[in-house]
Amino acid sequence: LSVIETIEPRIAVATRAELADQRASLKLIASENYASPAVLLTMGTWFSDKYAEGTVGHRFYAGCQNVDTVEALAAEHARELFGAEYAYAQPHSGIDANLVAFWSILAHRVEQPELAELGKKNVNELTEEQWETLRHKFGNQRALGMSLDAGGHLTHGFRPNISGKMFHQRSYGTDPTSQLLDYDQVAAAAREFKPLILIAGYSAYPRRIDFARMREIADEVGATLMVDMAHFAGLVAGKVFTGNEDPVPHAHIVTTTTHKSLRGPRGGLVLATEEYAPSVDRGCPLVLGGPLSHVMAAKAVALAEARTPSFQTYAQAVAENAQTLAEGLKKRGAKLVTDGTDNHLVLIDVSNFGLTGRQAESALLDSGIVTNRNAVPNDPNGAWYTSGVRIGTPALTSRGFGAAEFDTVADLIVNVLKGTSPVTASTGKPGKAKYMIADGLPEATKAASAEL
Ligand code: PLP
Repeated sequence: LSVIETIEPRIAVATRAELADQRASLKLIASENYASPAVLLTMGTWFSDKYAEGTVGHRFYAGCQNVDTVEALAAEHARELFGAEYAYAQPHSGIDANLVAFWSILAHRVEQPELAELGKKNVNELTEEQWETLRHKFGNQRALGMSLDAGGHLTHGFRPNISGKMFHQRSYGTDPTSQLLDYDQVAAAAREFKPLILIAGYSAYPRRIDFARMREIADEVGATLMVDMAHFAGLVAGKVFTGNEDPVPHAHIVTTTTHKSLRGPRGGLVLATEEYAPSVDRGCPLVLGGPLSHVMAAKAVALAEARTPSFQTYAQAVAENAQTLAEGLKKRGAKLVTDGTDNHLVLIDVSNFGLTGRQAESALLDSGIVTNRNAVPNDPNGAWYTSGVRIGTPALTSRGFGAAEFDTVADLIVNVLKGTSPVTASTGKPGKAKYMIADGLPEATKAASAEL
């Protein structure tokens, strides 16, 4: 930082402040973690300076032999760790990984058959008219994914995201009473909608998924099963999710981020069956340009870490701590979506504390507890104010928190929620953002967290 200080001191100040904030607060955002020093250091190297469009051994630039080593290692670790037939380490983020997956599926299922029928090798050989016809076919495909308020992700076909503009989209929700995924409802929606792609995976659903059942549904309607395991990749890597709960043996394509429960650098990864591998391997130029070689190197380091027995112990603790947290919250009066968890996250419905998600998130932040507001199923407050707060255990488990600490965390959270009240806005309507916390509560909460 002393080097940075001489060039742009404000960046050095912000970086120190970020470290101080992360140390002084309880990081409970379900998608965050603490990457190891080895992972962080690997990102700050001269690999950042190298261009390497293409794939291993087949680049559009000279001098890529060291990037080849890095990318091949990242892919090898990913294949071995997840038992995948093929791995692609280039996507810069989760959204990129999903875009690579979508376009690979379109290439494999729409473009290749069309080219074969026309007796052409690649799209450059098509006439203007043939190309137009193919472009319309791309735009006419359907995707079925989990609805946003049931816990699905924006990239699973929602209108504000490019995925919603690419595909005709429908979503499946959860059972209105149990709030659990209803596979019969998914099957019925798939039969009626006949999607090209059935998307499974979530950002805010606190339960495991039966991927064997999802594959059955996909097969019945001829869909490609794509699983976005961004949130729970660490639990798959750590062998907490096995059998039907492990997406890799069941899905055609699995995407993930590398920075959430997997505890690596910010980035994405695509796993695929042999059948889809050639299309995914064309992620560049399909969707991507030059890969972030320094980040691929850090992915290789993180994946090597995830192949150690200590990572399995960590993943097990992430899931056990989530149970402790859920039980601790429930016994103190919190209402949880699906009444609990069996993964790494808990979704609190804060409406029974008389709060919106926005008010709860802000009051918790004032008290040194960092969470994010999140919609609950059929949320009356919409996606901005929401009625929920999502909390996850991966980061604090990395800090060594166990059952005792997570029970205290539950206590601190419920105390803050009980000690916070909504404030009526000047319009006379109930303010969805304004709130008041009991005197001294933020300070007392921060002091108690510092003890942990
Ligand atoms: N997929 C899921 C399920 C996610 O939860 C997220 C991020 O929150 C993403 C994809 C997007 O990842 P990124 O932020 O790296 O683009």
